[in-house]
Amino acid sequence: MTTGFCQALSALMVGGALVLGALQMALAAEPPLIERLEALSDADYDDLLDFVEGNALFTLYHEAGHMLVSQLDLPVLGQEEDAVDNLATISMLQSGDADMDHLLSQAMLGWFLSASDAYDDLVFHGEHDLDLQRGYRMLCLMVGSDPDAFGELAADLELPGDRVETCPADYDQAVAAWDGVTEAHRKPENGGGLRWIEVRHDPAPEDLAPFAELLKETELMEVVAQEMDDLYRLPAPVLFRSTACQEANAFWDPDAREVILCYELLGAFAELFLEVLAEDD
Ligand SMILES: [Zn+2]
Repeated sequence: MTTGFCQALSALMVGGALVLGALQMALAAEPPLIERLEALSDADYDDLLDFVEGNALFTLYHEAGHMLVSQLDLPVLGQEEDAVDNLATISMLQSGDADMDHLLSQAMLGWFLSASDAYDDLVFHGEHDLDLQRGYRMLCLMVGSDPDAFGELAADLELPGDRVETCPADYDQAVAAWDGVTEAHRKPENGGGLRWIEVRHDPAPEDLAPFAELLKETELMEVVAQEMDDLYRLPAPVLFRSTACQEANAFWDPDAREVILCYELLGAFAELFLEVLAEDD
């Protein structure tokens, strides 16, 4: 843990100076999530929803990336997980929406918060890089795309100066790679062509209802689905669906051609936020 890291978190999650180390806390004796949400102050609850929203949006772009790789038969050099993390990050950076930098920062911090600091828990053979590596790669693309907007955050999170200097090249390369492989599948500037993506919100269990509501209100799935439909000529219908899965997950199902976002994953983002908040009390 470093002071710089805490400062970055405090700056982003107004309402408490948050500290790391919370993830070691035992969950066993916790009351149900819904009760802990109800006990939050309005400010903390708003911050929690922000955190969940940012992480959910990043997840949707990430899964949309898997959908594109699969449906457009895109070549992937290196790990697909890295490639679609890059797509999610650059899509959010290029959105032109003023709130998007904040949401992206929440998602980037999510990797820092979920990272295990116990060596035995690290998985070196997984499909994904380690959480901290994913967080730092996102941060590098962010500061690479806009040093003025994200330079301070990079300094707070102790991204070394010599690494920061190489980040604009990382960002340019990631953008060029995605532009290059998707160019042949792009719709003309003014849209047109068939629209293939539908969105469906399945009913949520009672304890996850606040997150199903958040998803509907913020229209995150609709935003990502529409962007994919605006930009790319897909070969077949695709469904973006939020549902209860009995696991905290999100995935692209190539057989059903569905991007699935599980309500349990949104609950897990909330748990992560609450753990850090509790550590501060
Ligand atoms: Zn993935």
